[in-house]
Amino acid sequence: MESFDKVKKQLQSLRDEYMHRIDAIEVETHHKETPVEKDFAEQATQSENDDVLTALDDEAQRMIMQIDAALLRIDKGTYDICQSCGESISHKRLEAIPFTSLCINCAEKASH
Ligand SMILES: [Zn+2]
Repeated sequence: MESFDKVKKQLQSLRDEYMHRIDAIEVETHHKETPVEKDFAEQATQSENDDVLTALDDEAQRMIMQIDAALLRIDKGTYDICQSCGESISHKRLEAIPFTSLCINCAEKASH
């Protein structure tokens, strides 16, 4: 059976990257908890900016969840098995998206 050590390392470093990103976002958002006494235009810009940061944060959290799930599947030996239909996921696809849990067919269905 093929070992996924290489991809495991790849996933772990990707995970670190997202963790750093979340840290950076949190520093940035905490920064902004200064009393609001600016004019309206500036306030609007600020909350828009916060929305962007929150969206980035959400995205990073979601990615980490997917990466964790992929790491778990590697440990369980089900890494290259589609979680939806049980077929194997092509290794080409796993190379491109190492945290995917769906084969190309199911991923296409899910995106519609
Ligand atoms: Zn599938």
